[in-house]
Amino acid sequence: MPHAVCIPFPAQGHINPMLNLAKLLHYKGFHITFVHTEFNYKRILLESSDHESLNSSSSFRFETIPDGLISSDALASTTQDLTELCVSTQKNLSAPFRSLLDRIDQSTDDENIPAVSCIVSDGFMSFTIDAAEQLGIPHVLFYTLTAMTVLCFFQYYPQIIERRISPPKDDSYLRREFMEQTIDWIPGIGSIRLGDIPTSIWATNSYDPILNFIIDQCSSTIVNRSSAVLIHTFDALEPQALTSLSSIFNRIYTIGPLSLLAKQISPDTGIEKLRSNLWRNDSDCIEWLDSRDPASVIYVNFGSTTVMTSRQFEEFGWGLANSMKNFLWIVRPDLVISDDVVPLPLPPEYLFQVKDRGKIVTWCDQVLVLEHPAIGGFLTHCGWNSIFESLSFGVPMLCWPFFGDQQTNRMCCCKKWGVGIGIEEDVKREEIERIVKEVMEGEKGKEIKRKAMEWKQEIQKVVNPNGGSSYLNLDKLIEEVLLC
Ligand code: UDP
Repeated sequence: MPHAVCIPFPAQGHINPMLNLAKLLHYKGFHITFVHTEFNYKRILLESSDHESLNSSSSFRFETIPDGLISSDALASTTQDLTELCVSTQKNLSAPFRSLLDRIDQSTDDENIPAVSCIVSDGFMSFTIDAAEQLGIPHVLFYTLTAMTVLCFFQYYPQIIERRISPPKDDSYLRREFMEQTIDWIPGIGSIRLGDIPTSIWATNSYDPILNFIIDQCSSTIVNRSSAVLIHTFDALEPQALTSLSSIFNRIYTIGPLSLLAKQISPDTGIEKLRSNLWRNDSDCIEWLDSRDPASVIYVNFGSTTVMTSRQFEEFGWGLANSMKNFLWIVRPDLVISDDVVPLPLPPEYLFQVKDRGKIVTWCDQVLVLEHPAIGGFLTHCGWNSIFESLSFGVPMLCWPFFGDQQTNRMCCCKKWGVGIGIEEDVKREEIERIVKEVMEGEKGKEIKRKAMEWKQEIQKVVNPNGGSSYLNLDKLIEEVLLC
């Protein structure tokens, strides 16, 4: 039996697609070792017992490696600190990962575990290539990003630095005119606004840990030591960016959306239901959605790492209330950065005003929510998984990006794919009220809904087991890379 070791970057938006990919490989006959960091695994166990029960007998096992982060129950609901994650990933994970592979190797006889035959690693965990080379086994780097973002990291970032546009010399980069400038250095891509490039490039200090992490990881010399690159997208969504990337990477496959592909796994195995949530899921929101009319609810979720000021939070809250539409709002306990305001509970006068229309919970099963017929629009921070999940169910979007690749994703949503309306960074309640109404009942709303439905249909084709491109690519990846 082939044995794949799957290791995500330790953040929710990377864990989810890797877990879906691992489930699919298991479904295709692989024994799976899924590697979490100790810090995250402790949090995941607080939310779910599935993992432990599967480990005792199953061919899908969870293992952990220490990442050096302090683990305590008190941290259970805090935001993940991306800078800390990048630093700890770079410094602390390589040796424990190698030891884990040795440990698995030693236990193969006693516990009837097949020898590790391939490694599937997040694109930002390239230290895993060394281990694959030492063992002489295939290795895949999996990017849980759009092809456009991968292109920005590999092509635009080095050129922006070389041309000394970054690090910015002064605060001019914060001004709108700076961000409105366009560049067109990549053949076949057309022009892109500086403001639509992933934001880490504008770090004012060239020693910024996240920027350096990306630059270190995104080198074609390193990446081409891997057997293949896998990108969480599909061909018809990003043809130009993919053509451009195929001139950088030796071997490239697209697969997605993984949340839909993984839904095709038979539920009897118990594997399909497996989750790795870092926050506790509130399942009664589905019941609440059941009681609402079709396409009558606006769903609001800012993902796992976005934070906002208490003023922004209030503007969103009152904009939703004043729109007079139904809304399901996910408010993580750590969503607002403020010493004096705790987002939940919201002020009683607010809760009284929205009690018949608003449902507010701390975390939900987003895929189940987005596929619910009651959902009419999605106010999102533009994380790539969120957008891909929304496209999968034909849900139009209101886009308020926070940082990283979210600005690039907003541009794709609003300009390339025609499925979203942007919200100003300096959010105002009047604007939220107006855009919510526009998406739910206006002409522009109808137009982006129509486009979203077109993409949904396209996506149903690509995940079809009878010849869909993402489904075929999974088989090709297995035959041409993982089983070689
Ligand atoms: N998610 C979820 N419930 C929530 C919030 C998020 O299941 O209440 C999932 C969502 O479906 C997605 C992931 O967490 O798969 C978030 O990834 P994304 O790339 O959208 O944003 P990030 O959290 O990385 O900013």
